[in-house]
Amino acid sequence: MKPTIWDVIIVGGGPAGRSAAIVLARCNRKVLVIDEGKYRNSRSQGIHNFITRDDMLPVDFAHSSAVELRKYGVRFKKARVENARSLKDKGFELLDNKGKEHLCRRILVATGVTDNIPNIPGMKELWGTSVFHCPFCDGWETRNKVIGVYSCHVCGYGMALTLRRLSDNVILFTNGGRNLSPKQRADLEANKVRVISTTINKLAHSKRKLRGVMLATGELVECDAIFTNEGNKVNAELLKQLNCNCTKNGAAITNKKQETSIPGVYVAGDASYDMHFVVLAAAEGVKAAVAIHNDLLKADITVL
Ligand SMILES: Cc1cc2nc3c(=O)[nH]c(=O)nc-3n(C[C@H](O)[C@H](O)[C@H](O)COP(=O)(O)OP(=O)(O)OC[C@H]3O[C@@H](n4cnc5c(N)ncnc54)[C@H](O)[C@@H]3O)c2cc1C
Repeated sequence: MKPTIWDVIIVGGGPAGRSAAIVLARCNRKVLVIDEGKYRNSRSQGIHNFITRDDMLPVDFAHSSAVELRKYGVRFKKARVENARSLKDKGFELLDNKGKEHLCRRILVATGVTDNIPNIPGMKELWGTSVFHCPFCDGWETRNKVIGVYSCHVCGYGMALTLRRLSDNVILFTNGGRNLSPKQRADLEANKVRVISTTINKLAHSKRKLRGVMLATGELVECDAIFTNEGNKVNAELLKQLNCNCTKNGAAITNKKQETSIPGVYVAGDASYDMHFVVLAAAEGVKAAVAIHNDLLKADITVL
């Protein structure tokens, strides 16, 4: 039996991949989405900053988008793509972790990023419920509460001041880190942000709810939420295998149409170099899809 050659394989089925899929499918393209299913925001208690989708749970987003995509014939495969290689002008070959090969004419990499969650007991357990990385995404829900900012490797100054807009009670924990300049310390003091530099023992919690930050001295500093942004790692293995130009952090460098330095390889969402929001990931998916469709149209006219 002749193997299927998909017009497009989308690796990653988060908001970026799914938005691209719907545009391509509505252009009557044969689309396969291969997705491992570890969405970055899977622990989130509700999507924010996406108008008309306010508070929607990521699991509901995944469910309703899957229903819409199936309507247009998009196929899904739950797997991890381990390897991608270019077949020059014949497209691309992907190998998944179940040993299956997939062929396609164009690839969209929408693999997202993996957050660096601080290695302190309680951080991983509370991620997305009481520990957050982004004041824009989850700040409003913590307004007027006691908000902790954990910042060891970066200074946390901007994040603490952003959160001061939402609460009078913001505490910056540096866990022994000494990244604040004298001016930043003075600004924080002027804005009534308390700075605690003592080493942290753990986050005390019960039933997935933060109780406070336990210091190495045994003191419990009561807090309702912690914000921390210690960066992330782009899921860039496939981009590297395909030799795409990337930033130092591994994010793909693209042109305005989301195409990477390798013709036929596109990227959208957090794996690209712009800001990280659901609505932006979705928008980049749409941009990539239009460009891929036009690229395929051009290729087919040349063949005729
Ligand atoms: C706790 C939390 C809360 C957030 N809240 C908000 C919010 O309220 N509003 C907002 O706008 N943004 C929010 N974000 C950011 C948002 O989650 C991301 O911007 C968005 O998910 C990016 O979408 P994406 O499609 O690029 O990546 P993702 O949603 O992460 O999807 C990538 C998919 O690709 C899969 N994948 C990776 N590698 C492979 C591979 N090799 N093979 C197959 N599949 C692969 C992953 O398993 C995953 O399913 C939040 C993030 C976090 C961590």
